[in-house]
Amino acid sequence: MKARRPDPETSARMARVRRKGTKIETMVSTVLRDLGAHYRKNVKTLPGSPDFANRSKRWAVFVNGCFWHHHKGCARATIPKSNRDFWVAKFRDNRRRDARNTARLLRAGYRVIVVWECQEDQIRGKLTKILEARSVDA
Ligand SMILES: [Zn+2]
Repeated sequence: MKARRPDPETSARMARVRRKGTKIETMVSTVLRDLGAHYRKNVKTLPGSPDFANRSKRWAVFVNGCFWHHHKGCARATIPKSNRDFWVAKFRDNRRRDARNTARLLRAGYRVIVVWECQEDQIRGKLTKILEARSVDA
């Protein structure tokens, strides 16, 4: 059974949620600069187009919106009531894709971290670890 696409109103609401994710990206780039890290943004040549990455140092950072990437156990990882099947399938696909991309990067010798949008207070700690060559997941 194929899940229906959401109605235009729901789509518009979700699009607004997506745009809000940029605030945490700005925070991450500020902390990276602060820590003296060099990086490129939205590196399309790497699996999953990491939001921040350094190919020579082999680290990648994904900044994930809790809604779109369905952050496990997070209050922001809600499922819209209308077209529930569509969203459940979409979130499952998103999470699988994330896991696949992380696995590819790890196999290529990258250290990978995920910064969730609800984890503003953890940004510095996580980024410090990855720059110190330790991998932190989820
Ligand atoms: Zn979250």
